[in-house]
Amino acid sequence: KVLAKNGTLPEINRIAVVVPTPLPYLYLAKQVFGQAGIPYQLQDGFPLTTEPYLAAIDLLFDFIEHPTEYSPSFQLLLNPFFEFPGVSEHALVALETELQTRNNIHGNEAWARMRNRSRQQPVQLGIPGLEGHNHSGLVQNVLETIHTLEHTLTPMASPTTPMTTKINGMRDFLTRYERTTSPHDDAPRHNRARGALLTILDQLENVDRVLGESPVEFHTFRKTLHDAVQSHTFSERTGDNGIHIIDARSAALGMFDLVILVGLNEGEWPSRRDHNIFYPQWLLQDFGWPSDFDSLSSERIAFKELIRVSRRHVAVFRHQLEEDAPTISSPFLEDIEDLTAAHTQHIPARAMNALVTSRNHALRSGLVQPDRSVPKRPTPGILKQRLPKPEPVSATAFELYLRCPFKYYAKYILHLDEEDEIHMGFSPLQRGRIVHEILKEGFQQWDATADVPQPYTEENYDQAVSLFRRIAKEKIPRKYHSIELARLFGSHGHVGAIEWVLRQEMTRGPVAKRFVEHPFRTNLRLEYGPNGESPWHVDIKGRVDRVDIDLAGRIHVFDYKTGKAPESKVTLQIPLYAMCLAQDFSAETTQATYLSLRDRKAVRRDDYEKTATQLRETYRLISEGHFPPRPYQDHLCNSCGYIGLCRKEISETALPTEVQEVKPIT
Ligand code: SF4
Repeated sequence: KVLAKNGTLPEINRIAVVVPTPLPYLYLAKQVFGQAGIPYQLQDGFPLTTEPYLAAIDLLFDFIEHPTEYSPSFQLLLNPFFEFPGVSEHALVALETELQTRNNIHGNEAWARMRNRSRQQPVQLGIPGLEGHNHSGLVQNVLETIHTLEHTLTPMASPTTPMTTKINGMRDFLTRYERTTSPHDDAPRHNRARGALLTILDQLENVDRVLGESPVEFHTFRKTLHDAVQSHTFSERTGDNGIHIIDARSAALGMFDLVILVGLNEGEWPSRRDHNIFYPQWLLQDFGWPSDFDSLSSERIAFKELIRVSRRHVAVFRHQLEEDAPTISSPFLEDIEDLTAAHTQHIPARAMNALVTSRNHALRSGLVQPDRSVPKRPTPGILKQRLPKPEPVSATAFELYLRCPFKYYAKYILHLDEEDEIHMGFSPLQRGRIVHEILKEGFQQWDATADVPQPYTEENYDQAVSLFRRIAKEKIPRKYHSIELARLFGSHGHVGAIEWVLRQEMTRGPVAKRFVEHPFRTNLRLEYGPNGESPWHVDIKGRVDRVDIDLAGRIHVFDYKTGKAPESKVTLQIPLYAMCLAQDFSAETTQATYLSLRDRKAVRRDDYEKTATQLRETYRLISEGHFPPRPYQDHLCNSCGYIGLCRKEISETALPTEVQEVKPIT
């Protein structure tokens, strides 16, 4: 980016990305450059043994070892790399049917008898699936082919023939039965694998001639060929234009204008050394093994040579995390500074925050052009039709939308119940419900003793605690008393949750009126709405845990949380309720507070402007049918009951929903 900005970025074919080891960097580079649409070229070594053509040769060997058994014969005859005159799929089905009627007989003599019988049998029509075919003729064709193959390949199977004879037998077989074209439409690959095999056969033949052509068992020949194939690799070239992706050893032989070294981490540069666990190093050194110091020195020299491979620029990168663990930088980084001190430029991390991470990203950044016009597809998580207005607005539902839009969709539009986690004993849900009931009844009974709510003071504190404790004992199932009462009313050196609430009350002034579990429905008036309409009236309904009206007529709104106080970006309930009640009571709101009983913490939420924006934005997205499975934190999915439904992994590739802030129409 920096070079491109300066106009000094070299031509793409003069750039090399140098990796310390092929794995995992080559796979990573292919993925990253491929997805970003940046042309690249590399040459990769693959084991010959992974080629499908070599697997077909293995089937030939299986057949040689067991020529009159069902599986090896059928697998060879069906293999797409070979073709056998008169053997078709129909013929193989006919033979299979015949074998089934004869209890799957196998073995030389049994198959020979069957072959003779099929030679004499009259034409027979009407085998299901083979109507119109001469069944006996088909069976006979296959049996004759197997017999011919067996006969041709007998010298290979014989323990008295030398390797040269076996190799010639293979060549004859390939000449007669090999398909001339690749069955997988990849002729270069097929020819390359075939050429490699024939070369190996030539080499083995030469060796055998030199060694006197002594007889070998078939399994020895098979193993020798197998070992030879395993030790062969072939290079596959990917791309012939673009950035070169090469390993450090190959890079030393090239010359580039920009060399990008990646993986400048300890363990990669220099490479991690495996120590011999059987012998100490001083002993190995006597046998000529290099010491750690010597190895490090030679790697350091090679690294310095690598830096000089570039005629103009060198860029170095290191990753800072590996499987979530911080990594250590390579000691060679210091060498770079020594070598190039006069020209080194450090690029701060924040200047690189526009990394291209996917082809979509590259397309959106305008770095690459689409190959073709892409037909518009429905975006996962976005409904085509507009939905009815989400009114009356439920703050709880809107908060669910903020936590994950798909959860809102599943619960409030599809009306699907979320699968609950199974809890043994007192569940958090049960605890929350009971604590709310205790607080509701406690405040109600306390306030009922006088015309105006009595303030909580040091003098009446014990009396208040006794009242709440009595209610708690009635509400909490007996078997959970000891733990839950300690949780609510404390024990030695530990303040209970309800004790904390009452002590909070002691710090407040007197209250003129108190409402608990107060239901309301308000036609809230906001300055402007989600589509710019001004003013905007929106129907809100809810139930407030507690509303206190002080002597000056100001309202204080409280919401109890048995867990921690929620984060402001996914909550709007308490400030929204405060806005509604302020309008209902024509009063000024002084406090909107979450009381976290778990953390014994009061969290003020007086951000009414932000809440109005959250309300407008959520309202708009719901009305427009935006319900992507996008949790605000990934760990939410771990306990989500809709995890089997939302197909989050599919929609992750979709473009993110644009969020726009609406301005009032003037
Ligand atoms: S599993 Fe995750 S993405 Fe899917 S609905 Fe649940 S929270 Fe949302």
